[in-house]
Amino acid sequence: MTHSPTLLEDGFGRRVDYLRLSVTDRCDFRCTYCMAEDMTFLPRKDVLSFEEIQLVAEAFTSLGVKKIRITGGEPLIRRDIVPLLSKIRKMPRLEELSITTNASHLAQYAKELKDAGVDRINISLDSLKAERFKTLTRHGNLQHVLDGIEEARKYNFKALKLNSVALKNFNFDEVRDLSRYALERDIDISFIEEMPLGEITSHARNIEFVSSAELRQALAPEFQLSPCSDITGGPSKYWQAEGYRSRIGFISPHSENFCASCNRVRLTASGRLLLCLGNEHSVDLRTLIRESEPDQTLSLVKQAIVDAMTIKPEKHHFDLNEAPQVLRFMNATGG
Ligand code: SAM
Ligand code: SF4
Repeated sequence: MTHSPTLLEDGFGRRVDYLRLSVTDRCDFRCTYCMAEDMTFLPRKDVLSFEEIQLVAEAFTSLGVKKIRITGGEPLIRRDIVPLLSKIRKMPRLEELSITTNASHLAQYAKELKDAGVDRINISLDSLKAERFKTLTRHGNLQHVLDGIEEARKYNFKALKLNSVALKNFNFDEVRDLSRYALERDIDISFIEEMPLGEITSHARNIEFVSSAELRQALAPEFQLSPCSDITGGPSKYWQAEGYRSRIGFISPHSENFCASCNRVRLTASGRLLLCLGNEHSVDLRTLIRESEPDQTLSLVKQAIVDAMTIKPEKHHFDLNEAPQVLRFMNATGG
């Protein structure tokens, strides 16, 4: 008799089939909304090794997780990233492997990512003005990112997508330029409402807040937008811009809460399984991996993941007028 595998379901009846897996908390940028200028990163011994990440990915895929997104920090600065992607992509039940990157090294890696079997690439791009891009990322070189995007376009990935965090006084005036840049290249673009993760000093998040409705209003003079009915399995709600093949999406953690359809969990680079982006509920898988008998590790990790589903919170509560409730930065969370 064959047994169907245990599938992951949380206490609110939501099926969890998507893992965001952070492979490093380090980054070559210091985006103002994501990190403080002066960051302390994890000691290397606290970061999961190649084999430990592989084991966790194996546990999740055997529990019915079909999609894995590799993230960070900046995943392309991890030295063994390509062989790791290749290993994960070959896992039997995995249907899709994607990566989120700042694209600073994408020109160099695009072909290798394709060869490793990566299906989709999400690229963060908040400005098309070089000086402003440098201010927002504190270290970034816009041209390297644009070169990375052009290189990636050559390899026929299932999808390339852009993500922009919209900030009232930094890039709100560029939403049409950014959208045009994406749509003219048949690339989807999503605008994200900034989330209060970690204490930052560069700007006041409540002052910089731009809602998705305001963004659509700013786009209206140039783009005729109609809502798409496609269910993407992600938090982005897409709108079709008339005359273009690709779409404009809005990720609205404040103005259009998407928690009811949440299908994901996150693993931090240090092996902490986070059940919700906006809450601290978590399980330490690293200690379990490092302290268990090797022949029992996989089954113990699988059981810990199944058990963790019971503490997945129903929703996040973000309030931009209060000090952040979640003190970890997005690079530590695995965006
Ligand atoms: N370094 C890669 C990158 O930038 O694409 C991957 C990691 S980054 C943490 C993942 C995504 O999180 C990026 O699209 C970034 O814009 C977004 N992000 C970071 N901090 C955020 C915040 N406070 N609110 C909303 N999105 C944020
Ligand atoms: Fe680095 Fe991505 Fe965070 Fe920017 S958003 S600092 S690129 S991890």
